[in-house]
Amino acid sequence: MAIIDGKKISQEIQGEIAAEIQKIKSSGGKIPHLAAILVGTDGASETYVGGKVKACERVGFKSTLVRLSHTTSENDLLKKISELNNDKDIDGFIVQLPLPKSISERKVIEAIAPEKDVDGFHPANVGRMALNIPTYLPATPYGILQLIERYKIETAGKNCVVVGRSHIVGSPMSILMARNAYPGNCTVTITHSKTKKLKEICSSADILIVALGKAEFLTVDYVKQGAVVIDVGITRIKSDKTKSGWKLLGDVKYDEVAPKCSFITPVPGGVGPMTITSLLMNTLKANKKEIYK
Ligand code: NDP
Repeated sequence: MAIIDGKKISQEIQGEIAAEIQKIKSSGGKIPHLAAILVGTDGASETYVGGKVKACERVGFKSTLVRLSHTTSENDLLKKISELNNDKDIDGFIVQLPLPKSISERKVIEAIAPEKDVDGFHPANVGRMALNIPTYLPATPYGILQLIERYKIETAGKNCVVVGRSHIVGSPMSILMARNAYPGNCTVTITHSKTKKLKEICSSADILIVALGKAEFLTVDYVKQGAVVIDVGITRIKSDKTKSGWKLLGDVKYDEVAPKCSFITPVPGGVGPMTITSLLMNTLKANKKEIYK
């Protein structure tokens, strides 16, 4: 059994990006510039955005954080998006989700210019992904592809089962693993809360990608001997054994599942650290005009 070390791979890729930025700087090229819009002061969103800004600094990107009050109207947010769409210095930007209930996420996502949509959530970019046209892939699935690639895990002809069909993880993951590409070329089954015989379906998986958001849901009897298990879930639970009083659990009951796997991602330290790295990779692509020329 091998543990997929997302922290290590994430540092490796960020190191490669930093080296590329050094080269761009010394040749007088334009430094990638990522902007993030944060509406309100939700604690978790602050942490996520803070992590993104810090990562930009680490690799040498420029970053801009646009803070808007929680009372911001949908119109004002759309105006700000239009400003960023037209700002020539900004290569890509994200709007941190979730948004206040009074603002339509769909309208906001659709207002972002697809060529600056480094989160990969705009329907134009989702469509490109489905058609296997180069695009900005959503961060978490893109991070999982990087892990599979860097660990040289074979995917062609394998049975891949994805648990969860969210727009940010399960659904794009199922599309990507079925693509005629590497990683990809799997026979994919996507499952959700209405799926019958989930255990039977999961036990047939050579590659099992689990993103349902229920701590330690997936026990050893869901897993085939030698399977690759990618655990996307992150649930914060109270713990009297940690300094912070909290610990993070994945969707997979790690201790009993790990010995049965060929590869497994731990929580924390597996998929999680890759998400910000994917955003940096997309921003670099935007800067180099790799997707929209
Ligand atoms: P969502 O809540 O949006 O989606 C969960 C999916 O799981 C839904 O499709 C739901 O089905 C399905 N589901 C729920 N219960 C069951 C069940 N008993 N059997 C089968 N399917 C079930 O979650 P997300 O995709 O946004 O996130 C999933 C997990 O991944 C969360 O823990 C989240 O915190 C974590 N996450 C981690 C990231 C990282 O960077 N590592 C990034 C993003 C998310 P239905 O559609 O029928 O409701």
